[in-house]
Amino acid sequence: MNETYLKHDQQLHDEVEVQLAQATTLVPAEELLHELRVYKVELEAQNEKLRQAHVALEKSRDSYINLYEFAPIGYLTISSDGFVTEANLKAATMLGIESKKLIQRRFARLLADQDKDRWHRQFLGMKRAAEGAEQDFDLTLVRDDGSKLRAHLNCLRMNGLDESQMLRIGLVDITQLADLRIAATAFESKEGIFVTDVDNIILRVNQAFTEITSYSAEEVIGKKPQLFSSGKHDAVFYATMWDSINNTGTWQGEIWNRRKSGEVYPEHLTITAVKNKAGSITNYVASLADITMSKAAADEIQNLAFYDPLTQLPNRRLLLDRLKQALVSREHNRHTGALLFLDLDHFKTLNDTLGHDVGDLLLQQVAARLIACVREGDTVARLGGDEFVLLLQDLSEQYIEAAAQTDAIANKILAALNQPYLLGIHEYHGTSSIGATLFSDHEQEVEELLKHADIAMYQAKTAGRNALRFFDPQMQDAINTRVDLERELRKAIEQQQFQLYYQIQVDSLGHPLGAEALIRWLHPKRGLVSPSQFIPLAEETGLILPIGQWVLETACAQLKLWQQDTLTRNLTLSVNVCAKQFRQADFVTQVQETVQRHAINPMRLKLELTESLLLEHVEETIATMNALKEIGIRFSLDDFGTGYSSLQYLKRLPLYQLKIDQSFVRDIAVDSSDQAIVRTIIAMAQTLSLNVIAEGVETEEQRQLLLNNGCNTYQGYLFGRPVSIVPFEAMLKPLSQYLAFAHKNRTDCF
Ligand code: C2E
Ligand code: MG
Ligand code: MG
Repeated sequence: MNETYLKHDQQLHDEVEVQLAQATTLVPAEELLHELRVYKVELEAQNEKLRQAHVALEKSRDSYINLYEFAPIGYLTISSDGFVTEANLKAATMLGIESKKLIQRRFARLLADQDKDRWHRQFLGMKRAAEGAEQDFDLTLVRDDGSKLRAHLNCLRMNGLDESQMLRIGLVDITQLADLRIAATAFESKEGIFVTDVDNIILRVNQAFTEITSYSAEEVIGKKPQLFSSGKHDAVFYATMWDSINNTGTWQGEIWNRRKSGEVYPEHLTITAVKNKAGSITNYVASLADITMSKAAADEIQNLAFYDPLTQLPNRRLLLDRLKQALVSREHNRHTGALLFLDLDHFKTLNDTLGHDVGDLLLQQVAARLIACVREGDTVARLGGDEFVLLLQDLSEQYIEAAAQTDAIANKILAALNQPYLLGIHEYHGTSSIGATLFSDHEQEVEELLKHADIAMYQAKTAGRNALRFFDPQMQDAINTRVDLERELRKAIEQQQFQLYYQIQVDSLGHPLGAEALIRWLHPKRGLVSPSQFIPLAEETGLILPIGQWVLETACAQLKLWQQDTLTRNLTLSVNVCAKQFRQADFVTQVQETVQRHAINPMRLKLELTESLLLEHVEETIATMNALKEIGIRFSLDDFGTGYSSLQYLKRLPLYQLKIDQSFVRDIAVDSSDQAIVRTIIAMAQTLSLNVIAEGVETEEQRQLLLNNGCNTYQGYLFGRPVSIVPFEAMLKPLSQYLAFAHKNRTDCF
């Protein structure tokens, strides 16, 4: 193009020279010369303009080429017969083919097979379209190396005059965009998904997440997943989970989470850490599936595997499992456990006569009754047929006591199963036989224990059914003794085999103040039975109630007699009252009625309560005591020092007297800590303005020590053993004489 302009310049110059030559002849030379010079300047100016225009054109052409060649979009020009006639650099790189090679390639050859037809249709359409028409569509292109790219095409119909430039195609690689679209579709899957940043702040959630948790995106974005925590997992659980994510990049498992409604539900959770190229974590992606349904199905399977379908009781497998656990826990737990093997008597006959359906009904009802007889932590299992096994846990640490508890529960079961059943239209009476064995040693074998209980059960059958037998013969003896004792105790109440003994209580001068009434059982064969042998059993069986009432009656009758004699009219009588008695709803009325019936001065009656009794149901206890105090009855706190009463607590109780337990009195002369305790009790009594009495005073030395320390009232063998009324009254006089003498010769040594 430069050459063209230069040629044109030369031509102008030549023309001027020609005209100059002609001018010399026609016009005056100077004039002409002047004109020509002006003309030349004009031409030169024009020439300069043209040159500048040329430079500008060059510049714009270069920038066009730059724009076209280096555009971020691929450009292809397609001829009317479908060939590539122009391609920019981007198009060539996108397609992985040199620009030169790309030109003169049929465009359809660059397409994936599945898109060729589509292209032909579009191409024909564009061919027919008017200049300037545009069309957009996506196609898959194939590079020379066989790799594919997804491209968005923008086709522009160009001037129809130039056949080689029919279409201009703008190409954009949308492969990544397509991947993102796929990812977006995958994100909206059926599983709930949430994405957090590295600080565990929720960035995004999908629709399924909202459906599962009921939380909308707005409600959780910016919050932490702790929002869903059910509180069912401990810190160790979460620490293990994060350990796994940080070490392996992922964690999956079942977890209990909480929906917006507060409902706790099981979900299968997968957490994956997303890392950047440098390998550091940028995000966490959690996907969760609500497995409530599958959990229910799994529970159902578990149910079938571990429970008896007829009664819903644990089956043999679960029983063995629990028994194993119970034995293992024996290592750390000193409580005794018991295994009871139960077999229904004559079940086969019922099945044979009334059919299996009726038999099944019986088994179901037996199951329900058994469950009602045991505590929550115990297990009632059905081994099959009419065999049931009960696993009792947390019985007493004392073997004999545990046996007694087992005996009580087994008897409750026998009684419960003895009640009539209604099986459809049939009323049925049945009994059962139980074999029991105790365990406290974790090294015992599960199968062995079951065998022992089974053997014991057969012994119960042999013994005539409807019975309980222990595997251990010694245990059986101990239980038999208890059973006999209970039976005899009932008889004793009926036949009035009890007697009240009286143990004197004196003041520091030896004057009798009264007595403590202590019960004795005059057994026809065993002779005199001490209360420690039968009071605990009486308390357990409830027989203490009639016994206690008898004691109260007898004591009041005695007080009545004493009131009629000058020697005894001021004596008080202390009666022991146990918790079961005291807690009776009508205890106050009972006492009041008895006192009134015998017309005695209530001030002469003292009730001895123990610390353990007072520590339970405090408010109720205080109310009962106050009601009785209102009538004039006094209270002595028996065995004081063995419990845990605090000064604060004692202050609230309407007590009259503290009774120092004999265990402190026994060694008072030799044990300095006992001395300190006794001193403290006395000081405590003084602070609370309570009377104090020491029990179990056996020696003069003990009495002296107590006296020196401010305790002026005593009870013990030193003054008299518990005796029946006749010898008691006989001793009243001489005792006061002895003490008057002792008092005179006392030595101070405390
Ligand atoms: P307790 O109320 O602490 O009675 C004092 C016990 O100590 C009596 O035993 C008595 O005989 C004994 N004792 C008295 N002085 C001495 C002594 O100097 N040395 C020794 N070593 N012992 C002495 P007992 O009569 O065998 O009564 C035992 C427990 O039985 C009583 O302890 C009381 O808790 C209970 N008890 C007795 N009679 C009854 C009653 O009628 N009803 C109730 N619920 N319990 C009673
Ligand atoms: Mg007492
Ligand atoms: Mg006592």
